[in-house]
Amino acid sequence: MQLLDGKIVSQAVKDSLKEKVLALKQQQKRAPHLAAILVGSNGASETYVASKIKNCEEIGFDSTLVRFDTDVEEEILLKKIEELNNDDSIDGILVQLPLPKHIQESKIINLINPDKDVDGFHPVSTGKMVLGLPSFIPATPYGIMLMLEHYKIETSGKHAVVIGRSNIVGRPISILLSQDGKYGNCTVTVCHSRTKNLKEICLQADIIVAALGKPGFLKADMVKENAVVIDVGITRVKDDSKKAGFSIKGDVDFDEVAPTCSYITPVPGGVGLMTIAALLKNTLYAYSSKGN
Ligand code: NAD
Repeated sequence: MQLLDGKIVSQAVKDSLKEKVLALKQQQKRAPHLAAILVGSNGASETYVASKIKNCEEIGFDSTLVRFDTDVEEEILLKKIEELNNDDSIDGILVQLPLPKHIQESKIINLINPDKDVDGFHPVSTGKMVLGLPSFIPATPYGIMLMLEHYKIETSGKHAVVIGRSNIVGRPISILLSQDGKYGNCTVTVCHSRTKNLKEICLQADIIVAALGKPGFLKADMVKENAVVIDVGITRVKDDSKKAGFSIKGDVDFDEVAPTCSYITPVPGGVGLMTIAALLKNTLYAYSSKGN
């Protein structure tokens, strides 16, 4: 079994981005600039946004964090997006999800200028991705593809089983893996909460992407020998032995599954780190697409 190490791969991506920023600065050009909007004070969202900002700083990107209280009116949020859309010094805009219930997420995301949609959630980005056109790819699926590429994992003709069909992970990764490309060409089965015989389907998989949000769900008796296992799940599980009071668990029972598979991503230290690296790549793409 070999670990697909998010620390190593994300660092390689960040090192290469850092070099590009240095080259830009040597040419007296400005750095790419990411704006993040955070509503409320959800613990996990706070951590994700802080990490995104810190990673921008590490590689020399500019970043702006815009914070709103939980009870912010939808109208105010929409105005802020418009303002950021019209600000030429901002290349990428992300709105940390989930948003409070009184705000319609789709309305907010659809207002982001598709040229600044670094999370890749806008319908224009989705449409382009499905058609295989150059576009922003949602950061988590993009991060998984970067990881497959780094470890040169053979995907062509393989059977990939994706567990989960969300618009941000399951659906897009199923599309990317099925596309005609160096790390695509898989035969893909998408499973979800209504899937019957999930265990039998998983046992046919050469590659499994677990993205359902149920800690330790994928057990060894669901995984074929030498399969590649990608664990997307991130759930905070109560853990009194930790200072924070919780530990982070993936959707795969790592201790059981790791000995039987060929490659596996750890949680933490796997897909989560790649998600941020992919977001940074999308931000550079937004900057470069403007002709900077
Ligand atoms: P979601 O809740 O939107 O979707 C979950 C999907 O799992 C649904 O499509 C549902 O049909 C399916 N599902 C639920 N129970 C199932 C079952 N018993 N059998 C088969 N399918 C089942 O979740 P999401 O936003 O796609 O996130 C999934 C997980 O990935 C969560 O733990 C989330 O925190 C994590 N996540 C991690 C990253 C990262 O950077 N690593 C990014 C995004 C999401």
